[in-house]
Amino acid sequence: MATISAGSGTNDDAPGPSDPRIDPDRLLATLSRFATFGATDGGGLNRLSLGDADGQARDELCAIARRRGYRVEVDPIGNIFITRPGLDETLPVLLVGSHLDSQPFGGRYDGAYGVLAGLEVLRSLDDAGLRTRRSVTLVDWTNEEGARFSPGLLGSGVVAGTISLADAHARTDAQGITVGQELDRLGYRGAFDSSSLAVHRSFETHIEQGPVLERTGTDIGVVTGVQAIRWFDVLVQGQDRHAGTTAHSDRQDALVAAARLIEVVDRMADTVDEKLRATVGEIRVQPNSRNVIPGRAVLAIDLRHPDPARLDQAEEQLRRAAAEVAEQRGVRTEVHQVLEMPPTAFDAGTTDLIRRAAASLGRSAMEMSSGAGHDSMNVASRAPASMLFIPCVDGLSHTQAEDIHDEWAVNGASVLLTAVRWAAEEAAGHSPE
Ligand SMILES: [Zn+2]
Repeated sequence: MATISAGSGTNDDAPGPSDPRIDPDRLLATLSRFATFGATDGGGLNRLSLGDADGQARDELCAIARRRGYRVEVDPIGNIFITRPGLDETLPVLLVGSHLDSQPFGGRYDGAYGVLAGLEVLRSLDDAGLRTRRSVTLVDWTNEEGARFSPGLLGSGVVAGTISLADAHARTDAQGITVGQELDRLGYRGAFDSSSLAVHRSFETHIEQGPVLERTGTDIGVVTGVQAIRWFDVLVQGQDRHAGTTAHSDRQDALVAAARLIEVVDRMADTVDEKLRATVGEIRVQPNSRNVIPGRAVLAIDLRHPDPARLDQAEEQLRRAAAEVAEQRGVRTEVHQVLEMPPTAFDAGTTDLIRRAAASLGRSAMEMSSGAGHDSMNVASRAPASMLFIPCVDGLSHTQAEDIHDEWAVNGASVLLTAVRWAAEEAAGHSPE
């Protein structure tokens, strides 16, 4: 399939002057409006999945959709599907969207940008009076973040079959409230059979959540896949003793041993390669008291790399270091793997549409692998899927400081609109040419 470079302009698909265009003011106003649901004093969002603020954002999205005459359907795990019907409703649809939930002190754009850019695409098609051949369906996935209910990617996971509906409904938050109870309270336990929704292609727009696009001055990230993830819990078992009476030579200090392991994890990228992401994000110490030598520590470790063979190397280093530290510090260590996510490769044809759409609009683009997990990983198991990233300021995400520039938001929605328009006219068999 030929790649069209910016400005080559001889393709029949290239948008002409009368074609639909994103309305920048409406897009930016809608982003601001949705940032009021769960707004924090720090300029971010606290919109945990299925809390009151998430309910308000959902209600607003559905209200806008109903006013526009779109079809609003909710499935049993609360995923919202908003459809702008095409000329032939028997054809598989184009899926766009992301998630409206946030981290406890998260940003305004992680997830919400993808939903609202998708909404803007639907509204731009209305403005132009354009009936697409295929229907375009906007989705808001339930509990992407996993911050309140574990695991994340819950709504898309139910549709993909990685978690059962009954299991998902029974998941509890820290107060013991279940997903099912909250769906009922907010009125989002629907009956739509989303698992039978036929999807022609899926596009998710998202902020990069990393610094590469901004640093390189690139408008669009064409996401070819999501890197592999492995999580480990490392238990370090020593002996808790009195801090004042125990000589250092007699100690089995679990926290000091754990600190050595943290150093090893932080330096792993030096020996594996620069694409490795190795993080100790959490440490639990017992008894966690000033005047007691810690007897037990548990480290929660997150390792990521696009290539699972490199993760094998990192895991080998971790296991060797744990054995060495045990030997040196007189403690016992256990390494438990608690999560294995293989890498996801996105659909080449869908990725190519994004690349060509960016080029046709004169936007710079680069291929990249996603460092974060996304619902599109689950979608990709059922349908041709890909993602496009826009830059975010200083690569910041999962923080109230998360920010984007107006033109980045508009660029992403414009590329999405073009890719959706092309894909919506495709015949069966996914070939855009
Ligand atoms: Zn997200």
